[in-house]
Amino acid sequence: MDNHDVTVHCWGTRGSIPSPGPKTVRYGGNTTCLEVSVGEQRLIFDAGSGIRLLGQGIAERGPNAIPIFLTHFHWDHIQGFPFFAPLYDAEDRIRVIGPKQNGIDVQNLFAGQMGPIYFPVPFSFVAAEMEFEHLNEGEYGVGDATLRVMRVRHPSFVIGYRIEVAGKVICFIPDNELEGTMYGELEPGFDRRIVDFVGDADLLIHDAMYTGEEYPDRVGWGHSTFEQALQLAIAGGVRRVLFSHHDPTRTDHDLDAIIAKMREESARAGSDLVVDGAQEGVDYKLESRP
Ligand SMILES: [Zn+2]
Ligand SMILES: [Zn+2]
Repeated sequence: MDNHDVTVHCWGTRGSIPSPGPKTVRYGGNTTCLEVSVGEQRLIFDAGSGIRLLGQGIAERGPNAIPIFLTHFHWDHIQGFPFFAPLYDAEDRIRVIGPKQNGIDVQNLFAGQMGPIYFPVPFSFVAAEMEFEHLNEGEYGVGDATLRVMRVRHPSFVIGYRIEVAGKVICFIPDNELEGTMYGELEPGFDRRIVDFVGDADLLIHDAMYTGEEYPDRVGWGHSTFEQALQLAIAGGVRRVLFSHHDPTRTDHDLDAIIAKMREESARAGSDLVVDGAQEGVDYKLESRP
C-alpha cells in the first residue's frame, strides 16, 4: 500500500554555531538541517552541521538523487555540507538550489567554503554529479511537491519555504526577524504577506532565537522572539508550531520553561495550536487525512 504520510525530521535545530553537550541533548546541538519525506521522495532544506548524520544514513542506501534547498549562506546553514557523505560517492547526484547573493551564484558560494584557507579537501575532489540552480521568490514544482518561496527579514538575501505535498503544508522559516522595518525593500506589506505565506500550515518551523526580554538588545540581528513566532502561528491559523534556530546558550531546561510559557500564552489567546520546540532526531509525522 502506498504511504502518503509526510515525515518531517529535524537533523539540526540550533542557530549560529553547533552547541553539543549534556545541556542540549534533547533539543539538539547541530545547526539547521531539515528533511521532508513522503514515500521515496526526499527534500532536504539547509546544510548546517546536522546534514552530516543525514548523509551517513543516505550513503548506505544509494545511489541517491538528492535535492538540497537553501534558505541562505550564513555558516550555520552550510557548514555541514563538506561533511555530507554522498558528496564523495560517484553514484550520487546532488542538486543544490538556493538564492544568489549579490549576483554570486550558488556554486561559487558553496565551493568558496571549501577553499584551501578554510578547508583541506578541495571542491574538485567531490565525486558526486553536482548541479546548482537558483531560485527567487515564486512557485516551483519538485516531484509531487510544490514549493513556494518568500524573501524574509534577515541580513543578505534570505528566503523561507512553504512546502505543499500529499495534501500537507509545512513552512520552514529558520531565520527571520518578524518585527521592525529595517529591511527597507521588503516593506510595506511584509507583516500581512508573511501571515498569508504560513496560512493554514499543518506545521510551521520558525525562528525563535530570543526571548522577549532579550530582544531589545538584539534588534536588527535578523531573528525573532518566541512570542513573535507564536503570534505569527496563531494569526496564520497554523496547526502546530516548532520553535527553532535555538540560541546556542539555551539549555534543554531553559527551552522547556519557555515553551511551557508559550503554551499558556497560546491557551490564553483561545488557540488550539500545538506548541513545541524543534527537537533534533525527532520524526514529526503528518498523517494523510482519510
Ligand atoms: Zn541561522
Ligand atoms: Zn542567518
